[in-house]
Amino acid sequence: MDQTPAPARVVMFPLPLQGPVNSMLKLAELLCIGGLQITFLVTDDIHARLHRHSNIQTRFQSYPGFQIRSIPDGLPENHPRGAKFMELFESLRTKTKPLLKEFLQSGGGGPISCVIADAVLGFACDVADDVGIPIFHVRTISAACLWVFFSLPMLIQSGDLPFKGDDDLDVPIKSVPGMERYLRRRDLPSFCRSGDIADPHIEMYKMEATENPRASGLILNTFEELEAPILSKMRNVCPNIYTIGPLHAHLKAKLAATASSLPAFSNSLWEEDRSCVAWLNSQPPKSVLYVSFGSLATVTRDQLMEFWYGLVNSGQRFLWVMRPDSVDGKDWESRIPVELSQGTKERGYVVGWAPQEEVLAHPAVGGFLTHSGWNSTLESVYEGVPMICWPYFLDQQVNSRLVEEEWKLGLDMKDSCDRSVIEESVRNLMEVRKEEFLRRADEMAKSAKASLSEGGSSYSHLDRLIQDIKTKSAQVVRD
Ligand code: UDP
Repeated sequence: MDQTPAPARVVMFPLPLQGPVNSMLKLAELLCIGGLQITFLVTDDIHARLHRHSNIQTRFQSYPGFQIRSIPDGLPENHPRGAKFMELFESLRTKTKPLLKEFLQSGGGGPISCVIADAVLGFACDVADDVGIPIFHVRTISAACLWVFFSLPMLIQSGDLPFKGDDDLDVPIKSVPGMERYLRRRDLPSFCRSGDIADPHIEMYKMEATENPRASGLILNTFEELEAPILSKMRNVCPNIYTIGPLHAHLKAKLAATASSLPAFSNSLWEEDRSCVAWLNSQPPKSVLYVSFGSLATVTRDQLMEFWYGLVNSGQRFLWVMRPDSVDGKDWESRIPVELSQGTKERGYVVGWAPQEEVLAHPAVGGFLTHSGWNSTLESVYEGVPMICWPYFLDQQVNSRLVEEEWKLGLDMKDSCDRSVIEESVRNLMEVRKEEFLRRADEMAKSAKASLSEGGSSYSHLDRLIQDIKTKSAQVVRD
């Protein structure tokens, strides 16, 4: 009789939103490289979008143990989903939960060693418990923001919450352990400004502190050296944490080590305009400020004008990603003041979507004006690019505070959108304090790279995760 145990098979169930799906796909590929079989279970809507916009089919062809499967999210086809994510979550909780249970019970094609699911979908833990399969949680935001979520009950108990957006936002926040030195009201996730502790976001995220410790482990897209003080607090509640980020670079490093010719998974939602790389090639080293607010943030026409004047008046070179859908309202393109078009022609370049990882790695880029999305922050940290932060929502308010106060990697401009403040911040980052920020960013980038090299923290945590999954698999086979 053949005694060889079947390879461990993992069912991954991501939060059905673009960012978390992208991060989970990178994790899926890292686990495939580590010898695990992956069933990537998504909602029908995400399945259709992945087939339309990504190279997932060809990308995973070289991993025979990878398969993608889908179940309904219970919403009508024309529902905006990401734009109304509380409705999406409700539907997942009521309609998708029983389908997930059926899928896990049926085995979906063989014994399942474990489930890896986004912890926001707390119900995945209930389902895995019901069917007796071990579960690991994943969160794709910073440990810092997750720790604020964990602390929501304490924020309420201490009276730090509630407050309103028009209250004094500089009041210090003292009830998030380890962050007392720098956290203010304005640095809490944006929904904390609602003035109502029954706000559905608060209700939902305060479950994190009880849901996460239920899993066998928590996987985070960060690295030890970046968030050590917060991780040490978090381990008091959730002892088994695997910090395996930055995921985008970790995957690239593993692909390079396996001599794979595949480029890392493309997370582009729009067609990349590569002409900006040619433009960057003709700019002096560290002279260009890269400007992008990610894939979701929008600005009003007035805010756009403030940014534009601030950038042009700073006299610095800039490469600006203006997504086709990033400005609220119509007709703004027909009313651009001549001094802005002139200044942009002289020192700027505008695209609809850029190959961001490549742009941040380009020697001409010396700064990043960002909305402080977690992926953008990690990509910037990894490439040693200092940041000016203009956070838009959710975790970005927390991330930007860390950039300025904890990591000293740049400036936090939150809650201000005034051309003179923007001009001054750009001059400070690119001229006045340039050397100081570059030195600090270089140190942090070295530490990020070290975490991914053999024996480094993220490298070792990924190894440990793969080993732990294989051990669980052996237990499943024995039982
Ligand atoms: N991105 C890109 N090209 C662009 C702008 C953004 O490839 O022109 C990518 C960027 O590299 C990052 C992601 O889009 O991986 C944005 O994720 P993030 O978490 O920073 O922000 P979100 O879009 O979720 O708000």
